Amino acid sequence: MTPTSSSAATQAFAELGLGPELLKTLTSLGYEEPTPIQATAIPHLLEGRDLLGLAATGTGKTAAFALPLLQLIETGGKVPSALILLPTRELAVQVAQAVHRYGKELGVEVLPIYGGQSFPQQLKVLKRGVDVVVATPGRALDHIRRGTLKLGRLKVLILDEADEMLDMGFAEELEAILAEVPARRQTLLFSATLGPRIETIASRHLHDPVEIRIAGIPESEGDVPLIRQTAFLVRRAHKLAALGRVLDLESPEATLVFCRTRNDVDELTESLNGRGYRAEALHGGMSQEQRDRVMRKLRGGKVDLLVATDVAARGLDIPHLTHVVNYDLPSAAKQYVHRIGRVGRAGREGVAITLAEPREHVMLKNIERLTKQEILVAPIPTVADLRTRRLELTRASVRESILEGNLDRFRVVVESLSDEFDLVDIAMGAVEMGHEATITGSEGDEEEIPVAKPFHEKSHGGKGAYSGPGASAGKGSRPRGGEGTPLFIGMGRSGGIRPKDIVGAITGEAGVDKRVIGSIQISERFTLVEVANNVSDLVLRALKGGTIRGKKVTVRLDKRR
Ligand code: AMP
Repeated sequence: MTPTSSSAATQAFAELGLGPELLKTLTSLGYEEPTPIQATAIPHLLEGRDLLGLAATGTGKTAAFALPLLQLIETGGKVPSALILLPTRELAVQVAQAVHRYGKELGVEVLPIYGGQSFPQQLKVLKRGVDVVVATPGRALDHIRRGTLKLGRLKVLILDEADEMLDMGFAEELEAILAEVPARRQTLLFSATLGPRIETIASRHLHDPVEIRIAGIPESEGDVPLIRQTAFLVRRAHKLAALGRVLDLESPEATLVFCRTRNDVDELTESLNGRGYRAEALHGGMSQEQRDRVMRKLRGGKVDLLVATDVAARGLDIPHLTHVVNYDLPSAAKQYVHRIGRVGRAGREGVAITLAEPREHVMLKNIERLTKQEILVAPIPTVADLRTRRLELTRASVRESILEGNLDRFRVVVESLSDEFDLVDIAMGAVEMGHEATITGSEGDEEEIPVAKPFHEKSHGGKGAYSGPGASAGKGSRPRGGEGTPLFIGMGRSGGIRPKDIVGAITGEAGVDKRVIGSIQISERFTLVEVANNVSDLVLRALKGGTIRGKKVTVRLDKRR
């Protein structure tokens, strides 16, 4: 592994042509290397070229356009040098914040303008003088028509998420604004998709643009290991709580957690330690000695979670790694493949968990296309899920200790208590003691984590439930836990089985509705699925005669109940 010092990180950005103030900012933000879109776009943009960029949110495109823009414009002017148009108020605020952050050292004045915000406030700032205006098209046009937003000295115009702006009916506003801006200007158009309407705008308003496609990437990445991949849609503010829940439910042996920046790595490591996890940071800002120490601790089992940037984790080989967590989505689909490829090696089970912000679901789709594997979008485990899981673990450990025997020294305790109490009560008391000792980071944490719906998607129905350990597949008229007939299927996670394979096999082979299926528990080597009592014989016969994931597997009534 080659350590990346801050200067190496700075070097990578410097090579793109960025000046010292921006480099300083990037180092302070903890960026270690340019994302693919940044590496490709920045040099062209600094040369003043127009650009047509096909890139989704999450690829680092904001910095890809904001950094060159900041370098090219002069700050401190009375009227704006750059106008960024985008579809929603949230984006306006978000991008304005990003431009402000990147332009800190340059003292840039940025103003977000969107509908619903008071005019006088916007006017006051506009009068004082701003360098960059970040606006939704409707409100921008209002200001242009009132003469309060003057575009005569505009050098850079950026249409961000242009397909969204068109979908939201802003075509006329865009044309009207484009008619007002100086002919000699640099124009950038970003869109997640390319359709005839985008092509028309591009051919009319971009001058000999450089074309960059980051989103599509249907090139095959070769061998993508079979890994159980789950994504949770969660807003940034709830990510830490969500991660805690998922970790506690999964109880992984060793986990590698990826963040985008050094600062994120440090912050998350500290928060995790604060919540009682044993986490260590690994990033390019650390000396080789510090990194060696962390790796030794990890190998010695003294650390459960390694929190790292992509650069720092490059080339790491951690044999006992079971889980990879994308605390932030990577900036390119390929990088996702690299990240999750750390687990599932040598035929061992691997789990990849991704915490994505609702807006980033397009990126998830790109990744699915590249890997040709499904990422299950699941609801965040509830506190009740955690409790159920813990009880299961307790049951398993009690069972193990009974099977191991060697309990005779406790007989005297049980016998003396049995004069006073019922044996079941004594057993429950003993189990409680063992159980309480297993309390983990987030169970006491009743924090509500709101369900985040994917952006622009009505529902994710039919995607199935979380396939984590102990997850149950449904509600409604399904048999409730313990009420149906449990079937044993001789294929588990190591065979790559997923809930949808089971649902598919049962509905396909037996011709029954999926509502007859109750909880599905996938373990390492086998799966337990509960089906309604009245169809259990039918399902059993059908599964015995059929295949799951193309293989014949043992299917029988689960005798252990
Ligand atoms: P965007 O696609 O512009 O919405 O960016 C997504 C996220 O990536 C933002 O949180 C940025 O702060 C972060 N980001 C952008 N460029 C880099 C980089 N070179 N290294 C690390 N993080 C980055």
